[in-house]
Amino acid sequence: MSEISEDAYCAGWLVDLEYELWQILTDGQGAFGGMALGEPEIKQLREHSDSGVIFVTHDLGVVADIADRVLVMYAGRVVEQGTLDEIFYDPQHPYTWGLLGSVTRMDREPPRRLPAIPGLPPSLLNAPEGCHFRPRCPHAFDRCTEVPGLEARVSGAPEHLDRCWLEVGEKRRRREVEGRIGLAAGAAA
Ligand code: SF4
Repeated sequence: MSEISEDAYCAGWLVDLEYELWQILTDGQGAFGGMALGEPEIKQLREHSDSGVIFVTHDLGVVADIADRVLVMYAGRVVEQGTLDEIFYDPQHPYTWGLLGSVTRMDREPPRRLPAIPGLPPSLLNAPEGCHFRPRCPHAFDRCTEVPGLEARVSGAPEHLDRCWLEVGEKRRRREVEGRIGLAAGAAA
């Protein structure tokens, strides 16, 4: 076993003895203990342990390299889940749009300033009423004071779930920001 995969084993927790599922927590850059964990390391871990891996990170570049399925969490709730293609090419939740919009792309001119999601995550001791993303969402409207269910809203994609009240067609229109997916600040309804 390589040094890297030994470290990766140290980073994991065996959470289910029958199905052998590893959970790896990283910092916001997809690193653990100063070591970058990317596609090669995760593949090594999968091969050595013959198990599934839950990889927790903010680094969508790493996610794009290694994931089959993606869960997007915000303030204690899953706000979207689906296959890698569903999340990256047809994202349904504004928080996911914000995450994707803040990723630099090698095939585009870098923006002068990297887009960021305005505001801060809420305290879970005093979470906002309704949708937890509402105070930061430029698309919020009256109904957002109710908690949206985690539901399949996209026709023909029963396992693509999201927690946002906007209609699917409206989401697809609003997430287009200057030719790419993003959270259009100031585009509130
Ligand atoms: S539109 Fe409403 S439900 Fe959807 S993410 Fe924004 S605040 Fe939440």
